[in-house]
Amino acid sequence: MPIDDMLEYNQHFVRNKQYIPYETDSYPNKKMVVLTCMESRLVELLPKALNIQNGDVKMLKNAGAIIRKPFDTVMKSILIAIHNLRAEQVLVIGHYDCGMAKINTENFLNNMFAKGISEETIDIVERSGINIAEEFHGFATVEESIQQSVNMIKNHPFLPKNIKVHGLAIDPGTGKVDVICRDY
Ligand SMILES: [Zn+2]
Repeated sequence: MPIDDMLEYNQHFVRNKQYIPYETDSYPNKKMVVLTCMESRLVELLPKALNIQNGDVKMLKNAGAIIRKPFDTVMKSILIAIHNLRAEQVLVIGHYDCGMAKINTENFLNNMFAKGISEETIDIVERSGINIAEEFHGFATVEESIQQSVNMIKNHPFLPKNIKVHGLAIDPGTGKVDVICRDY
């Protein structure tokens, strides 16, 4: 299993002191927090394409780089990065060809059924006040979604006035970024 390979690799990594080039402290050197998508094509490509080194930024990821609620875990992490970890800029980086543009609730529910989640469980969850369609809602266009996340951050009551919030869209093939909105 991949986890076994990883654990074995890790022993070599530490023994050979391969961590030395990555040593840094916990404050982001670029005073920046980045929110991006969990997209696996961006794991290495995004930092390389934007010259982000270890220690440079606080990196947050979720499905779609989406913030839709002012006190969800992503927004809380951004606020902690700003108030406790010296971040002064926030970068929301969505990407083209994002799975969250294609997600539809019916399909998502069918996938859950196929993996053994019962209709009864889903009923119980919905009756407890969770709107599954709303919770797993994607977006129509990535540009619009990035702008929505940026607005949620910029309008947050706990966001200091001096914090800059920018929105970018990245191509997961080439790493090329387009500026969706830029704060000056
Ligand atoms: Zn994505």
